[in-house]
Amino acid sequence: MNSDSILTVGSIAIDWLEMPDGTEGEVLGGSATYFVLAASQFAPVHIVGVVGSDFPQEGHDLFKTHAANLDDLQVVEGKTFRWGGRYHENWENRTTLFTELGVFGDFKPTISQGNRSCPLVFLANIQPSLQLDVLSQIESPRLVITDTMNLWIDTALDDLKEVIAKTDILLLNDNEAEMLTGLTDSEGAGRELCRQGPKSVIVKLGSSGALLVEEERTVPVAAYKIEDIVDPTGAGDSFAGGLVGALAAGESLIDSLITGSAIASFSVEGFGPSGLYNSDKDELAQRISCIRNLS
Ligand code: AMP
Repeated sequence: MNSDSILTVGSIAIDWLEMPDGTEGEVLGGSATYFVLAASQFAPVHIVGVVGSDFPQEGHDLFKTHAANLDDLQVVEGKTFRWGGRYHENWENRTTLFTELGVFGDFKPTISQGNRSCPLVFLANIQPSLQLDVLSQIESPRLVITDTMNLWIDTALDDLKEVIAKTDILLLNDNEAEMLTGLTDSEGAGRELCRQGPKSVIVKLGSSGALLVEEERTVPVAAYKIEDIVDPTGAGDSFAGGLVGALAAGESLIDSLITGSAIASFSVEGFGPSGLYNSDKDELAQRISCIRNLS
């Protein structure tokens, strides 16, 4: 693989999921988990995170197989991060049933020397204070890409604003963009956020795709429509994985966004992260060309 390396920090979780069709169950989850499965298809991914003593073997195997190294993945006594979500009838909106930080609550990452020089840093969704801590330990990253969620806008806004100021490419969904700016139109919100630090803001629009907003241009990117969605969890993290992975492999930002959109479509086809295992090269290329024609 001739791609640049990516360092990421994000949640590694055990999720409880409830779907509108009655499907429910416990699966591996977390922003970093979806991200590594997606991004490692294109570039080496170095993972920063923590799991508890209850983390299943299946999860350890996943990281062993897909992460470039496990030097900064801590295993400590205690409970792994847990999140529960119940989807509404439209299969897009969801209610958080619980968020238990567990061992993430007092996680103090110390990035190993070898991982400090990764040129691309993806700050996946996790407490902004932790995103800042990790970022402060990386030696002059070339590109900092950040994702977040409504919980941190509500509970850690000052830290989040500091993260945004240090970010090159910000990813967030349309509701979060509105929460941060008070603006209901995604383009206006994106442009306002560009004034706060990032060069590029990517507003995710669920099944409608995404909007890239920069000072000088606004570019819509379509979604690859999946008729029979099994589970939308992790679509945003998988989108980010495809995007950052393709950037690390040297693709342009627009091409990388299209790759992100295509990878996200695999994610929603399986319960938990299982859909990402089906993204074979031919099918990925076909979805990429379909999105390119639609965008
Ligand atoms: P997405 O559907 O892309 O928003 O990501 C879903 C994943 O985010 C789930 O697997 C959860 O474990 C994880 N998650 C949910 N809430 C949080 C949170 N507050 N911080 C970090 N990760 C979270």
